[in-house]
Amino acid sequence: MKNTACRDAQDQLVEYIEGELDKTQHALLARHLETCADCQKELKEIERLRATLVSEQAPEPGAAFWESFPDRVWRAYQSEQTAAPRQRGAGLQGLLERCGSLWYRRC
Ligand SMILES: [Zn+2]
Repeated sequence: MKNTACRDAQDQLVEYIEGELDKTQHALLARHLETCADCQKELKEIERLRATLVSEQAPEPGAAFWESFPDRVWRAYQSEQTAAPRQRGAGLQGLLERCGSLWYRRC
């Protein structure tokens, strides 16, 4: 079960990892993570996903990988697509484009 604080925290995890939160939000989230095992788990999951995708030697992920693919990553991606165009570098977007190609290859 997730409370509101956790939902808010987990919505921000991708930006947290990308270093896109402002100082205050970053500090608040860091403090929440120190005390919340659920959110720590989510953070690790997203970091693992990043590490897998960033690695050139990444093996084809299994079905379980995609089943656990964090919804919020797609949400972040979609909101990025619909937002006014702005430069965000190759970070998350490049990562997600690689996710997307892996995804379609599997279909
Ligand atoms: Zn939490």
